[in-house]
Amino acid sequence: MKKPCGTNRGALVNGLKNVGAKDWWKSPTPIAWCDGTFNIVWGCAKVSEGCKNCYAYEYSKKLGFGSKRPSLWGETKSTKVGKGYNVEMGHRVFGGDYWNKLLKWNQMAHKKNSIVMVFTSSMADNFENHPITSRELEKLWSYIRKTPNIHYQILTKRAERIRECLPEDWYDYRNGYPNVWLGVSVESNEVAYRFNDHLADIPAVVRFVSYEPAIGPLTDIRWEQLDWLIVGGESGPKRRPFKHDWARYVHQQCRAHGVGFFYKQDTAFRSSSNPYLDGKKYYEFPSPRA
Ligand code: SF4
Repeated sequence: MKKPCGTNRGALVNGLKNVGAKDWWKSPTPIAWCDGTFNIVWGCAKVSEGCKNCYAYEYSKKLGFGSKRPSLWGETKSTKVGKGYNVEMGHRVFGGDYWNKLLKWNQMAHKKNSIVMVFTSSMADNFENHPITSRELEKLWSYIRKTPNIHYQILTKRAERIRECLPEDWYDYRNGYPNVWLGVSVESNEVAYRFNDHLADIPAVVRFVSYEPAIGPLTDIRWEQLDWLIVGGESGPKRRPFKHDWARYVHQQCRAHGVGFFYKQDTAFRSSSNPYLDGKKYYEFPSPRA
């Protein structure tokens, strides 16, 4: 059953609050719908039109250009070492200090009787069928189990792999792990099956769709199964056209079905530079199931 969503991040789960003013939170991110990001690896492979101007890919090219540092994309050598990371099979892999950030964040949140929302991964797809990503994903599940004050927002385009990538004890809980929100990226109706066929029936405290970059209309969603929708036009120099009517339509559907509506941005060079739809800001969050 859905719980009502709200425009603030008040009490969320079991008396825990979200970071609110974030006065104590030291890991800011430009992504408005989370408090921080954590990458199990850097590196991925493109799977659909939504990936065309992938930020992670563009950024990796920049990193590799004119530098001795290993870039993460298409890295051909099997191992390279940088400060705090290795590169294995084209993916950047992080050491213990990086992973232990999660324990530190959890401790900070615990002290504040709060939670923090962490998006994973912004530079990869956690469910990519790649030996290194799969290995690091197993590590993530073990950290997730010991960091209850972090709510992990796992977003994938490999929706068909969700079931096999979830840990075995996921179904021991009525709604999956209490601190994991599961989401799929759906850039248009063409890939609405990602939610409808592969996520809509999976138990989770929050099921969400990231309609970003929105590159076509999105109408064919099983709205009654959805808790949260993030909408955004494409950013960057190669951004594709975005129609406000697409956003207006999904906004109406969210209203009709009690789905939290988060309007992240218009299409613009810089991400989040115009977070208004018809002059209004919609930064709504869902209330996770207990
Ligand atoms: S799935 Fe995500 S990280 Fe991977 S190529 Fe596509 S947009 Fe980039």
